[in-house]
Amino acid sequence: MTDQGQSFHNLQLTDDGQLRHFLTLDGLDRQLLTDILDTADSFIEVGERTIKKVPLLRGRTVVNLFFESSTRTRSTFELAAKRLSADVLNLDISTSATSKGESLSDTLLNLEAMASDMFVVRHSQSGAPHFIAEHVTPGVAIINAGDGRHAHPTQAMLDMLTIRQHKGTFEGLKVAIVGDVLHSRVARSQIRALNELGAEEVRVIAPGTLLPRDVESLGCTVEFDMNRGMRDLDVVIMLRLQKERMEGALLPSEREFYRLYGLSQEKLALAKPDCIVMHPGPINRGVEIESAVADGPQSVILNQVTNGIAIRMAVMSMAMGGQLADRNRKQSEVVQP
Ligand code: ASP
Repeated sequence: MTDQGQSFHNLQLTDDGQLRHFLTLDGLDRQLLTDILDTADSFIEVGERTIKKVPLLRGRTVVNLFFESSTRTRSTFELAAKRLSADVLNLDISTSATSKGESLSDTLLNLEAMASDMFVVRHSQSGAPHFIAEHVTPGVAIINAGDGRHAHPTQAMLDMLTIRQHKGTFEGLKVAIVGDVLHSRVARSQIRALNELGAEEVRVIAPGTLLPRDVESLGCTVEFDMNRGMRDLDVVIMLRLQKERMEGALLPSEREFYRLYGLSQEKLALAKPDCIVMHPGPINRGVEIESAVADGPQSVILNQVTNGIAIRMAVMSMAMGGQLADRNRKQSEVVQP
């Protein structure tokens, strides 16, 4: 394990290996990832009830701290917390004191003073949730909702749940991730999850300008030609061009990108007939994906959104359980000299 993996590992897990923060998939083993998927599976049924609530986080306060824009992630975290019966505070950063120059640390100290139990954090800086987890009061759980280019672990886990629902297993699967891998925190977390869960091949398909220099070391093969790359695929995951993170011109034009790397019906026909089509959203129709594919029978893009609630319920309830176990252990250490 890398030094970084080791430090995330120690910070994320209790002494007996339970989740207490959820920052990255680095350092989490197959058993824990499978536990998250199984726990999420058990929450799917809650979303199908008339009264969509379980009392697992009753009386707990969850704060959604989104320093970057979000539609699906923010709203599914909110719904997940509410379905677990937590009280939820959504801090609107654009109208908060951050816009008056308050530092991240000061904002957090004030929110901690309101007895918050969990912060769900999205930030443009890679490592921001990890920094917060290192400095937060013991007992408060930090969940990463996407940090810079680094990681988006709940997105990757909801993607894994969607793949498992449709394919049954990860063994033998060939999965491609297509497009702007360079700027994608989603791709990094997906590659990690797919490797840990035993996929046969993780293939990235992109122009060289949209690939990180060390891409193969992430645990994937590389294909520059999409027509070749689509062969034998069980799953194809499309990515959005992350223009907000691009410096300089990395692409000739969107039209050219679509011609070479956009998922059209013709290109999809080169994969296995039961290949599923995924996208973390937001989708840009006609830029990375054709409407007929995004809305077509092989698309599971909206299933991903639904699964986001169950995965976020799983991660939040598991992290709160880990924090509680930590507190009980520390209390018993004080009592027994
Ligand atoms: N919603 C995903 C993220 O926050 C993917 C994207 O924005 O393209 O990383």
